[in-house]
Amino acid sequence: MTNITIIGAGTMGNGIAHVFAMKGYRVQLVDISEASLEKALATIDKNLGRMVQKERITAADQADTLARITTNTDLKSACADADLVVEAATENVDLKLKIFKQMDEAAPAKAILATNTSSISITKIAAVTSRPEKVIGMHFMNPVPVMKLVEVIRGYATTDEVNDKIVAVSKKLGKVPTEANDYPGFVANRILIPMINEAIYTLHEGVAGVQEIDTVMKLGMAHPMGPLQLADFIGLDTVLAICRVLYDGFGNPKYAPCPLLVNMVMAGKMGRKSGEGFYAYTKGSKEVVVSKTFA
Ligand code: NAD
Repeated sequence: MTNITIIGAGTMGNGIAHVFAMKGYRVQLVDISEASLEKALATIDKNLGRMVQKERITAADQADTLARITTNTDLKSACADADLVVEAATENVDLKLKIFKQMDEAAPAKAILATNTSSISITKIAAVTSRPEKVIGMHFMNPVPVMKLVEVIRGYATTDEVNDKIVAVSKKLGKVPTEANDYPGFVANRILIPMINEAIYTLHEGVAGVQEIDTVMKLGMAHPMGPLQLADFIGLDTVLAICRVLYDGFGNPKYAPCPLLVNMVMAGKMGRKSGEGFYAYTKGSKEVVVSKTFA
């Protein structure tokens, strides 16, 4: 495997490009937006620069890594020589089905088609292609250059051979792959999202405030971030979307999203990316903003 094409150059796409290029793979990074591609290259350059400062790589490594990444707004030509295509576009099922049809038409028959989806069924995505046995979930964590985990998710038709190749390539990237079957939320989000939702219920029902809830989980359970701070980091709209995937997928009321989460998303309070969620983010500092008026 030498040629990797990555579809989507946002938060995850640029990180995925970074780690593949660092390990010597030739990377084509694709986005519909030129601005996203420029921003992605600048982010990769900045993150590599930070690694040079920390003396983890040399300036020559930085230059070589960047030289292995080319950008493209044309998915078809970018997939033509791919051994592996990793889709990391916006989390929207119709969009992903459309992109997978295009990837299937454009990539060589031998190519593996992977998705970085957080919650959409791999089996559903695979079903729109002519090669469901070569479709697999490759779920990187954010920020990709830092986080060690890759969840490898087999769709209903994914073969052992394809699964083993993706496990091996994840290890080559210096990651630790875990294998899972394709059920709503896979492993990571099936456990994480109900915990975050329960933290929001705990706030909503007035059991404790934002800081108390986050402090309990940080100091009591040794979590590096409290669940409400983590929800802000992930994006409250994303948390809600994954909650709904779990609720719809299992038909179990225990996954029902907390009404406070629904309200905050409707109010445009998406967390860090909108500047405000459970905390307000101003000039690098954060302060609690969700008060008892919401409880
Ligand atoms: P993002 O919004 O930062 O980036 C998405 C990118 O996809 C944008 O640059 C957009 O222009 C591009 N795009 C949209 N349509 C496209 C198309 N037709 N062709 C090519 N590019 C297109 O999103 P993100 O946070 O990077 O998430 C990407 C994927 O990774 C999603 O499936 C998400 O669920 C998953 N994921 C996200 C995180 C996270 O913490 N952000 C963690 C794990 C997995």
